[in-house]
Amino acid sequence: ASGAASGAAGSPAVPDGAPIPEAFYRFDMMPAYQQLQIMSKGAEHLGIPSPYFKVHEGISGDEARIGDRDYINYASYDYLGMSRDPVVMSAAKDAIDRYGTSVSASRILAGERPIHQELEQAMAQVYDCEDAVTFVSGHATNVSTIGQLFGPRDLVLHDELVHNSVVVGIQLSGAHRVPFAHNDWQAVDELLVRQRRQFERVLIVLEGLYGMDGDIPDLPRFVEVKNRHKAFLMVDEAHSFGVLGERGYGLREHFGMRGSDVDIWMGTFSKAMAGCGGYIAGEKAMVEHLRYLAPGFLYSVGMAPSLTAGSLAALRCMQAEPQRVAQLQARGQYFLREAQAAGLDTGTSIGMSVIPVIVGASVTAAKLSAALFKEGINAMPILYPAVPEKSARLRFFMSCLHTTEQIDATVGALRRLVG
Ligand code: PMP
Repeated sequence: ASGAASGAAGSPAVPDGAPIPEAFYRFDMMPAYQQLQIMSKGAEHLGIPSPYFKVHEGISGDEARIGDRDYINYASYDYLGMSRDPVVMSAAKDAIDRYGTSVSASRILAGERPIHQELEQAMAQVYDCEDAVTFVSGHATNVSTIGQLFGPRDLVLHDELVHNSVVVGIQLSGAHRVPFAHNDWQAVDELLVRQRRQFERVLIVLEGLYGMDGDIPDLPRFVEVKNRHKAFLMVDEAHSFGVLGERGYGLREHFGMRGSDVDIWMGTFSKAMAGCGGYIAGEKAMVEHLRYLAPGFLYSVGMAPSLTAGSLAALRCMQAEPQRVAQLQARGQYFLREAQAAGLDTGTSIGMSVIPVIVGASVTAAKLSAALFKEGINAMPILYPAVPEKSARLRFFMSCLHTTEQIDATVGALRRLVG
């Protein structure tokens, strides 16, 4: 290569002899940043306080202390109340005493600790799979796994509502990316009937429970489709692990399926497991591939001792106390029923960990969130472009620790403020 670079479509970004425009060397002139400024000025003009970067004091779960006031909190995804659990907290502290605050190396070099292996074996057991591997972030888990396993001759079909980390992973892989209508397994089938043979590998990506809508895919249907077309199936269980099934084992347990029905099980430790990091579970050839070759694993530090031991303790706690899962489900169902009875639009949520209250315009959602906050209730607005403009919403993350009294107070406030 000559080393010469050119702009889009082969033409130079700046014509010969012309001065370099200021916009090309100033951060404050970047279009995305300018758009952000316009939006925050617009909100200020309408008198809507920013809902972002509120500082929480203490431990946030079913309740939170923000500034000098206590709130009923639905903005944190500590689904099983593990973040404040004394057993989980002391496991994290003990791990620091034993292994320090960091493993100070990539796992493959000098970062391997017994608790990493223990956690991975426990996750493999939960999923009834051959093996599992953990990453330091859930986002990095999706990016790195999809980016490593798939390439330009492959096709990745994903539900239109999957998390950003899945989309970024597909972009990194260079595979053809085709979103399909939410939960529409028939659309996937039809596309593969027509186009399967144009690609080498095909991956279908779903979430176990959708983080914005709180509904679930028809897993048996997707499994049948992927088997027929010799495709791989990946399920992101960020919001379903610790939430669905009698033991909290997720979508697999909910539908009574086998671990091997899904090729790539993915999840995060940041939600029900009250930690930080992600995991992949599946067959040995896939997990070993990632352990030796996935950049987000190989070129990143191993999970910190405190987080590894904390999540392991949270997992053991969930296994010893399945009533936490039952209580989360019961409180989610209660919230859903009460909200629906109050005439609120909860979309397609099945009332487990995530319940949206859809109000329409972004401005309406932002104002509702601010009004609730004044009443001591913290629920974040989800605005365009995260969701379509006509379906901006407040999102309620449930905790097994929410009481029916807290839920009654919340739905009562919503009924008054939405009406
Ligand atoms: N997948 C889904 C579905 C998520 O909602 C999230 C984040 N909330 C992630 C992956 C990324 O996980 P983490 O925040 O643990 O990095």
